[in-house]
Amino acid sequence: MLRVLVAASCLIACGDAPAPTSEPHRPRIVEPAARVGDVGDVQEPREPGPRLHASDERSALPEVARWLPEARRCGRFGARRYCNGPRRAPEPEGASAELASQLGLGTHRAAAELIRANPRPEWIAAVRGLVAAPRFPMTWPVDEGRFGRGVQRRGRKVVHRGVDVTAEVGTPVRAVAAALVGYADNTVDGYGNLLVLLHGGGEVSAYAHLDAIHVHAGQLVDEGQLVARAGNTGLSRGPHLHFEWREDGELADPMRRFEEAHVPAWMRPLLFAAR
Ligand SMILES: [Zn+2]
Repeated sequence: MLRVLVAASCLIACGDAPAPTSEPHRPRIVEPAARVGDVGDVQEPREPGPRLHASDERSALPEVARWLPEARRCGRFGARRYCNGPRRAPEPEGASAELASQLGLGTHRAAAELIRANPRPEWIAAVRGLVAAPRFPMTWPVDEGRFGRGVQRRGRKVVHRGVDVTAEVGTPVRAVAAALVGYADNTVDGYGNLLVLLHGGGEVSAYAHLDAIHVHAGQLVDEGQLVARAGNTGLSRGPHLHFEWREDGELADPMRRFEEAHVPAWMRPLLFAAR
């Protein structure tokens, strides 16, 4: 019964919609200015100036100084009407916003490229200079939730692009690995509030249907850091996190990047299905 409910909760939401140790170590973060070269004044700022890092506290969501203005985008998927709002993402600011601007991150186009194509070579070069490649196993993105749905293919067609974890609205969401934030907004139809992270090996993780995102493009996040809250925005039939993973420019099953000991018992059936 539960599986039926869960499957129904994300029937369309995550289907064709536009697209770990128990205590993970803190990955080494290279000083941006030393590696990014000509990104000008992108450097570790002096307090109380802007910071590239979203938060120094992994146990708390970064505070948002200013939210982006409301931009309610609604659409239809067959007979179903959905809205990508309310828009809940921070207004980019400081040196990290400048880095995003220089790299062309944070835009709708960047989101489309990150979740549907290969990251641009300059993005991969930049992120490799900033964060280490993801470790295996990665950090599970949701501490509390229920069994969801995995990546599903029908022949060569991908009918569900990610992993669903049903979770109450507001449940904190973690970065699965250290990353540069590539996109944080709600302009991609169906995904609602969407966070896209670019990892040190050129991998991409996407977190969709969020209630609120607490980091913005150009910021660095640590593995396991709280970055957002789960929600029910976009093409979603119930509160859940839709999590996508790309590596080598291809959509991949993220469950392969986790290990049994680091995945909550309630999600392990998906882990085994991925092997
Ligand atoms: Zn989904």
